[in-house]
Amino acid sequence: MSKTTIHWFRRDLRLRDNPALSDAAQEGSVICLFILDDEDAGTQATGAASRWWLHHSLAALTEALKQRGGRLILRRGKAGKIIPDVVSETGADRIVWNRLYEPWSIQRDKQLKSDLTDLGIEADSFASDMIREPWQVETKAGKPFSVFSPFWRAVQDQGDPPSPLPIPDRIYFHTGHVTTDRLEDWGLLPTKPNWAAEFEATWTPGADGAAARMAEFLSGPVNDYKDGRDFPARGATSLMSAPLHFGEVSPRQVWHATRSAMEAGDVRDAAGWSFLRELGWRDFNRHLLFYNPHTVTENFRDNFDSFPWRDDETALEGWTRGRTGYPLVDAGMRELWRTGIMHNRVRMVVASFLVKHLLIDWRQGEAWFRDTLVDADLANNVGGWQWTAGCGADAAPYFRIFNPVAQGEKFDPKGDYIRRWVPELGALPDKYLNKPWEASDKVLAEAGVALGKTYPKPIVDHADARKRALAAFEETKLKQETN
Ligand code: FAD
Repeated sequence: MSKTTIHWFRRDLRLRDNPALSDAAQEGSVICLFILDDEDAGTQATGAASRWWLHHSLAALTEALKQRGGRLILRRGKAGKIIPDVVSETGADRIVWNRLYEPWSIQRDKQLKSDLTDLGIEADSFASDMIREPWQVETKAGKPFSVFSPFWRAVQDQGDPPSPLPIPDRIYFHTGHVTTDRLEDWGLLPTKPNWAAEFEATWTPGADGAAARMAEFLSGPVNDYKDGRDFPARGATSLMSAPLHFGEVSPRQVWHATRSAMEAGDVRDAAGWSFLRELGWRDFNRHLLFYNPHTVTENFRDNFDSFPWRDDETALEGWTRGRTGYPLVDAGMRELWRTGIMHNRVRMVVASFLVKHLLIDWRQGEAWFRDTLVDADLANNVGGWQWTAGCGADAAPYFRIFNPVAQGEKFDPKGDYIRRWVPELGALPDKYLNKPWEASDKVLAEAGVALGKTYPKPIVDHADARKRALAAFEETKLKQETN
């Protein structure tokens, strides 16, 4: 009797360069399964904006499988219960998946592998979510890294990762009846109100959309990456973070596509490496989380454990709504709400504003991002927040406090980004766009701005906030020393 293998799709929502799927297709028939496992994920379950993406990505994968004569079985609940059920319903003798590195996922998968083995079911996992898996990169002393630059050198020293696999020539799909949920019944899309209305115009989830976006990026914008990546209005970044998170494309595909374009002379070396270096940060954050699983909720540097965070619901709400009175911060938070994404430079500025100007715990910002980003990714999100707060590995020092006005003037010099997301300030002269409170009554009136009415006054004064943040940091240091 021929073998039946379940390919468990997780965050590898693609057919190309899918090692587990390719392996499953080599012998016998294949059952394609996706499980919405919110129970095991707990507080780290897919957030609302990412659920919108997931819905459309699953629809695209269903269609891609249908075109090849297959189908995607959808089930909801604990994977540890559903997988044995599907095994006994179908008589499958093997299950395969691609590895993920979040602590909750590792714990679940280990348990599952051992339970399935006890039942006599073969369970095999494969590498596909990183350039190099966490344990493949180590210091000369054989230890995990906690500083990015040497980590990245070690990755580069290993040369190109394995080449991406093609879509399997032939997949023999299991033909027996298997019950499936209906995607529409999962309620992944918002309804009342439909806050994702603008997402549709911004994104094309699914492997085809990801491939088109990557090709578009490599056809030109990438050459501006090194110089332009910090300027939010310049369109110089790839926007590949959500496709990478959901595995519509693998990092190895991105690596090889970039390297090929460099070798063909279409992408300048400096630009290509500068882009791949950021992809390296994605691996670095996974590496860090793998070796420091407690940092999902705890500070990497425990000297921050006694930091005097403030509870301030009003300030937090002003931040989430994009009503802080600092135009660059507000532009970023509104871009996030309306499109599910925010430019990296602006993420650093808004995150710094929350933790340093408002002294609100980075975990509250991380939770908001987790719910509102379409690319919300545990390792990158926790890594980004801890880096900004100063409590992470290889982090920005706490005393370096972004000035949101200076950041806006430097990285949005013509004000295009701010004018797009904070249109009520659109008619202000460039000179005042980042600090409307310095404009005279006449200038404000001519621009149709009434501070405190049409646009908020700053919720904190930058200089005062800076002093307060530094004092809080000193207090923490002092507590440490006297303990
Ligand atoms: P590009 O500049 O085109 O980079 C290419 C790819 O490299 C990205 O798609 C991403 O996968 C990776 N990458 C780029 N910058 C970083 C970085 N600093 N750290 C890790 N990987 C990076 N990224 C997420 O994918 N999910 C998150 O939840 C997330 N939260 C963040 C929170 C904060 C506070 C900060 C400061 C950064 C966060 N980032 C997160 C990292 C970064 O902002 C995004 O990856 C990037 O803005 C995505 O845009 P892009 O695809 O155009 O990036």
